[in-house]
Amino acid sequence: MHFTLKMALFALLCIGAILLLSLAFGLSPLRGTGTDLSVQARGDFSPLPVVILDPGHGGRDGGAVSITGTSEKHLNLAVAKKLGDFLEAAGMRVIYTRTEDIALTDPEGGTKKTADLLARVKIARGEENPLFVSLHMNTLPQEQYSGLQVFYTESNALSHAVASTIQRDIRMMLQKENRREAKNAGHSIYVLDRLDCPAVLVECGFISNHTEARLLETESYQNQLAFVLSRSILEAAEEMAII
Ligand SMILES: [Zn+2]
Repeated sequence: MHFTLKMALFALLCIGAILLLSLAFGLSPLRGTGTDLSVQARGDFSPLPVVILDPGHGGRDGGAVSITGTSEKHLNLAVAKKLGDFLEAAGMRVIYTRTEDIALTDPEGGTKKTADLLARVKIARGEENPLFVSLHMNTLPQEQYSGLQVFYTESNALSHAVASTIQRDIRMMLQKENRREAKNAGHSIYVLDRLDCPAVLVECGFISNHTEARLLETESYQNQLAFVLSRSILEAAEEMAII
């Protein structure tokens, strides 16, 4: 059963790769970053980035609690692992900030919360060419809000492009009614504010919304979401290797 699912997912990934190639020559918002994809420019490749996948929270920090009673930390980790599998199947190097239900710690971090966040930042800082993707779930007191939203900061110009690519792909492939735009987080998100590399935080959906929470708790939706995210990240990684 497990093997069959993996095979099916790999087939999906192959289809995605074909779509990715077509997109690479057409729709990408990353085209707007001043990158010249002419034959001359292609002589100057950088190594592909390593993708740092950061499932938010963990251990004593459960994050938000869904309307159905599930801790955000479990959903973040489930999506991250599926996303990592897709990326690795496509040949990307992936590093997780956590692969278990644990909190991280760093002696320079101050409180337990900042020690945990700083440890995540340092994992990315320790890599030469990182692309940092933090995964979270959103909540609001009002149940009606739904839909994935990506946050970025202006410390690296590519962050906005990566965030916009994810937001566009989600609209095209998973949430046709999602009109959200990638949002500048300013200094409000600790991990993004302390990284100079391309970095985004994906709020995968609203677990305060009953329908979306139920979806996010299913393996099939987690796989769909992870697949679309992998497609966007592969596109961004390709751009980073060319720039
Ligand atoms: Zn969170």
